Amino acid sequence: MEDCLFCKIIRGKVPSKKVYEDDEIYAFEDINPAAPIHILFVPKKHIESIAKIEKEDEALIGKIYSAINKIAEEKGVKDKGYRVVTNCGKDAGQTVKHLHFHLLAGTNMGEKLL
Ligand code: AMP
Ligand code: ZN
Repeated sequence: MEDCLFCKIIRGKVPSKKVYEDDEIYAFEDINPAAPIHILFVPKKHIESIAKIEKEDEALIGKIYSAINKIAEEKGVKDKGYRVVTNCGKDAGQTVKHLHFHLLAGTNMGEKLL
């Protein structure tokens, strides 16, 4: 999508600190980290939010979680623990309308929400 920030990041039109990439997924550091490790995982396909996931996207969503686990292991937090958050829509505070999963780790988040 032309005016989508994360589509621009995926295409390299807006700079980002890449953490992971494959044919279908791109991951990069969040510009305003809420934890010592804060990485965003996005499908390269423009999907607005989890509310817009279709049957044909189910495998892709599984692959995103596998990529998250791979990076959690690389970052040394797989055993310590980590949080995965996806905000959907206005009341959840979704600011970028391109499906993304926040990987948060590196501190004890306890009961705190994002
Ligand atoms: P959400 O509020 O769930 O839509 O999350 C959007 C996230 O994107 C926020 O955590 C922002 O800090 C992050 N963000 C916004 N612009 C950029 C950018 N140019 N590069 C990296 N992360 C960004
Ligand atoms: Zn997009």
